[in-house]
Amino acid sequence: MRESLISLNYEELTRLILDLNEKSYRAEQIFSALHKGLTLKEMSNIPDTLKTKLSENYDDKCLEIITEQVSKDGTRKFLYRLNDGNVVEGSLMTYKFGYTLCVSTQVGCRMNCKFCASCLDGLVRNLSAGEIMSQVIEVNKRLCGDIKNRKVTNIVLMGSGEPLDNYDNVLKFIKIANDKHGLNYSDRNISLSTSGLVQNIYKLADENRHINLCLSLHAPTDEIRRELMPVSRGATIDELLKACNYYISKTNRRILIEYILIKNVNSSKECARVLAQKVGTMNVIINLINYNEVEGKPYKSCDKKTIDSFAEVLKSYNKQVTTRRSLGKDIDGACGQLRRKYIST
Ligand code: SAH
Repeated sequence: MRESLISLNYEELTRLILDLNEKSYRAEQIFSALHKGLTLKEMSNIPDTLKTKLSENYDDKCLEIITEQVSKDGTRKFLYRLNDGNVVEGSLMTYKFGYTLCVSTQVGCRMNCKFCASCLDGLVRNLSAGEIMSQVIEVNKRLCGDIKNRKVTNIVLMGSGEPLDNYDNVLKFIKIANDKHGLNYSDRNISLSTSGLVQNIYKLADENRHINLCLSLHAPTDEIRRELMPVSRGATIDELLKACNYYISKTNRRILIEYILIKNVNSSKECARVLAQKVGTMNVIINLINYNEVEGKPYKSCDKKTIDSFAEVLKSYNKQVTTRRSLGKDIDGACGQLRRKYIST
């Protein structure tokens, strides 16, 4: 597959333009136009000779939105077709402060979490930085946003895929999204959710960025976690929480611990007590999410009473707890898992 211009950061695009014996201000014009969602053809201020030279080696589009579903509660779900025909999905949640877009980082996933729909076909491939960025660009454009007037206010890397398993492209995406010549997102508007690749949590902490880290913990003991999430065979919960503490100390950001409640697996009051003790005095919010049942998987969701008593036990240990509101219920049927997701604020 050809490389996309959107996968280039500002410095790389500038170097490319200079190598083509063009003036550097062209890079600024092209970078901001690409991030508005324009194709080369649509850039009326760029000479045709330059457009031709660029299109010899690069694509100016990474994907197109092929379907959009709108839920009664306003949540929208998009299906994107990539240039090689693969398809990924994303969802857009509406909040008082604006829109949060949930983006995918891989086609499929190889973490093989037993409860998750994304893993059904394993990993197909990583998304490039441009393919992740383009999800934001295209949705922002669809909402009539511009680079000076962003409509997508927050980005969550919580779609299909494990972001820390596609580390370099994800980090490049974050830097491109940060660029002031483009959409100019601050790290604080970006959240990354991981199933817990310990070494890469340390690596991310050492980048000196301030993105919000979310950890999919989902179990209070190694025994339960190993059963649900094969990734945990590489590290114990204690090792994982140690890495998170390091992240907190380096970034000064609070971590969100995601905990799916699955009936008769991890939802007892005893599980809540053990979880509270494990987390100890760490600076975290525990986000409880009722499991969304997936066809073909044996796991069941919990009733409200179970969720409430789990939350009560955590609160009795002075833990900060939020319960994730489930949005887009009426459009659930049509896609994998992320349409069911929602980060409560
Ligand atoms: N790989 C990353 C991000 C992708 S999934 C991670 O594991 O964090 C985003 C969140 O949705 C994760 O917490 C994941 O465990 C959770 N999830 C997956 N399938 C789910 C389901 N059927 N019901 C509820 N949450 C689910």
